[in-house]
Amino acid sequence: MGLLIVLSGPAGVGKGTVCSALRSRMPEIVYSVSATTRQPRQGEVDGVNYFFKTREQFQEMIARDALLEHAEYVGNYYGTPRDFVDRTLASGKDVILEIEVQGALKVKEKFPEAIFIFLLPPSLDVLKERITGRGTETADVIDTRMNVAVEEMNLLRHYDYAVINDEIDAACDRIRSIVIAEHCRRERFMPYVTGMKTAIEKA
Ligand code: 5GP
Repeated sequence: MGLLIVLSGPAGVGKGTVCSALRSRMPEIVYSVSATTRQPRQGEVDGVNYFFKTREQFQEMIARDALLEHAEYVGNYYGTPRDFVDRTLASGKDVILEIEVQGALKVKEKFPEAIFIFLLPPSLDVLKERITGRGTETADVIDTRMNVAVEEMNLLRHYDYAVINDEIDAACDRIRSIVIAEHCRRERFMPYVTGMKTAIEKA
């Protein structure tokens, strides 16, 4: 079985940016493509960035239990197609999900053995800059988003690892180290050692 890696964190922390940087740095990990009801942004390709669905299609996916988790985020649905994750893990490959915090908690209920990585902003100022930099929101909207982000940071306690997203290369290196270390966990080598013991006993 491959490892299921969940990369999450508060809105505005740069999950998408870190995840796309990881794609080129860790091509051996399979990136799960989510389904969403939001409109494609310029340059986004159906089946590559997301599977773009209507609300009806999305609801039909929920009804037939085709999603490992789903959440509503800023008026749109987002969800992880279950089959692809199951098949990829069973083939021995690692899978990474880049999802918001509500979805990550749902994955934890179903896959407690997954590896949960929480991205943190280097400072509140940087977070504010990232939240503000996205558009022309009013001060009220920015305040609300900052409060939500700070609330979301409380969810860190449900995670296994925290990675500060101060610099993209450094953040990717930390995530890479986590994945390598997780592959070295003792439990994963028990069948290997048992196999060696059996071979020696037979010889
Ligand atoms: P965006 O619309 O900017 O691409 O994504 C908005 C938010 O949805 C991001 O925080 C992203 O991590 C999250 N997201 C993307 N795919 C999924 C998914 O399959 N499930 C959940 N729960 N969140 C997702």
